[in-house]
Amino acid sequence: MKVSEHIRISKRAVRYLFSLSRSYAICLILNAVLVNILPYVPIYFSAKLLDALYDGKPLGTLGLYVFLTVGIVFGVSLVSTYLSSRRDISAGEMYRNDDWQFSEKAMQMAYASVEDPEVTLLREQIAMESQTGYNQWCLISCTESLVSCATVLFMSLSMTFSFFLLDSIPLVMKFAFVGGILLTIACGILANRKTEVLTNRYFESCVSLNTFGGKYARYIEHYSSGKDIRIYDMAEGLLDLNRKRMRTVYQNGMKLYTKTAALQAVTTVLEHILRFGVYMILIYAAVAGGITIGSVARYVSCVMLLLSGASGLVSALQKALMNHVHLKRFFSYFDIPNPMYQGSLTVEKRDDNEYFVEFRDVSFCYPNTESYALRHVNLKFKVGEKLAIVGKNGSGKTTFIKLMCRLYDPTEGEILLNGVNIKKYDYDEYMSIFSVVFQDFRLFGFRLGENVAAGPSYDPQKTRECLFQAGFGKRLAAMPEGMESFLFKEFDESGIEISGGEGQRIALARALYKDAPFLILDEPTSALDPVAEYEVYSSFNEIAGDKTAVYISHRLASCRFCDKIVVFDAGKIVQTGSHEALIADEAGLYHALWHAQAQYYTTDAAKA
Ligand code: ADP
Repeated sequence: MKVSEHIRISKRAVRYLFSLSRSYAICLILNAVLVNILPYVPIYFSAKLLDALYDGKPLGTLGLYVFLTVGIVFGVSLVSTYLSSRRDISAGEMYRNDDWQFSEKAMQMAYASVEDPEVTLLREQIAMESQTGYNQWCLISCTESLVSCATVLFMSLSMTFSFFLLDSIPLVMKFAFVGGILLTIACGILANRKTEVLTNRYFESCVSLNTFGGKYARYIEHYSSGKDIRIYDMAEGLLDLNRKRMRTVYQNGMKLYTKTAALQAVTTVLEHILRFGVYMILIYAAVAGGITIGSVARYVSCVMLLLSGASGLVSALQKALMNHVHLKRFFSYFDIPNPMYQGSLTVEKRDDNEYFVEFRDVSFCYPNTESYALRHVNLKFKVGEKLAIVGKNGSGKTTFIKLMCRLYDPTEGEILLNGVNIKKYDYDEYMSIFSVVFQDFRLFGFRLGENVAAGPSYDPQKTRECLFQAGFGKRLAAMPEGMESFLFKEFDESGIEISGGEGQRIALARALYKDAPFLILDEPTSALDPVAEYEVYSSFNEIAGDKTAVYISHRLASCRFCDKIVVFDAGKIVQTGSHEALIADEAGLYHALWHAQAQYYTTDAAKA
């Protein structure tokens, strides 16, 4: 990493720290300064006291030194206690803000980024990496160490400076002294550097192993995989995989800590040789009569602190620089742009619901893929129409819907709403005109009513109507707590478990509750039994009312009732028309699919 980049990240890191909690950052820095000034007060006055005793100064002078020592230490300690308690109080605010910033970013991100495997990997890397000690919190410990060590260094240097001006100590000893300090610091830097490289390599290997471990843990812990693990006797195999992973982490850790302990030993030996040298030089100076007893005591203490301050500063600096690798990744997550928020046009709220949508030569590739999921799609339809989209699995039906709802932007071509490119509309406004039940819809562990209203408050009457319309009425009537019942057991022990079909009905009720002009159902009956499926599609026109309804299915029978049927094949629209027109085209895909499915049902029926 270049120096300029280190500076850029440092500045941003400080801004980030202050943005989390200003009072935490200020208290942290002030307290670090005060706590590290504190030891110098007794050192300074003890030296004065010793000299005063030696010189036989009056009791009043001795008392004054004692009073000043105790008084200043007391005052500084009081302020420091206040600052550290303020800092601890602000810590909660800081952690909350950090969590919040992360969640807020996830919510504001374009859906394309949410689905992007690279973004998923980045999130996992950040999460795993933060377990290694390099994370945004390391920024706090580094800031504290840097301020502490800089204070120690400043105080020690200012109190030992006079040592270098003493005539009684030969120049060669002064050079040896300075040389010793520099050598110890240099060894510390090298040892730290080596340690950091080794540690980083170890943590890098942990990140991939832990990412794997995290996914593995989800398999084991999540009850949805519990059935398959038991039926297919996968437990031993999974446990074995984890054992191997743990063994690798343990062995890598052993190697790392043995090497770093050896490096630490070298610098410790050097430091102690230097301490010994300092004592010898000072004793020599005292015997030669160049310095007072008090000064000897002061220099000895300050030089020891100087040494620890200098090596501490170097290692804090190195750690901060190493942490920049993490912070760069961390901040890159916040920097992921959201290209969706470009437009500002308001979507015209039309009483007549006269919207029309046009796909104009639209082609689309998913991010990080090369093959086209949609190719040269041209289609026009208007509000009020009931449009069915059919085709084999993987033919591009869901992708078409994702583009229409602006979860992705087309790679080529454009989509227009009332003749205006949908990119030009305000994103949130544009989203507000769609109600969609996706195949992989998600319900949450909240109350049934909250799920339907997609929010913490709901209109009971409207919710009930939507649930009845979606075919959930009987089940609702059988629920003792009705709309207040929790779904699943995530937040409430008495939460109810629902079947896939019931889930689809609740998701449909949620779409109806939103009451948007567009109602889009992506395979809405896939989890329903044939009778329930018949119920949904036969009442579909009634459910959809005057809304534009787009109905996706690979079961052609459920699409007959739609005004217009669009047939997708390999990302292209290959046919458009009414059921009657399409079935009459014997060379067309629709005809082939229809007869294939009819044959399937007939054979099935015959077997039964
Ligand atoms: P359908 O809804 O007709 O079953 P999709 O629209 O889901 O088909 O998929 C169309 C093509 O796009 C398929 O080849 C599928 O593998 C691919 N695809 C779907 N979702 C993604 C995605 N998130 N990333 C990459 N490719 C995808």
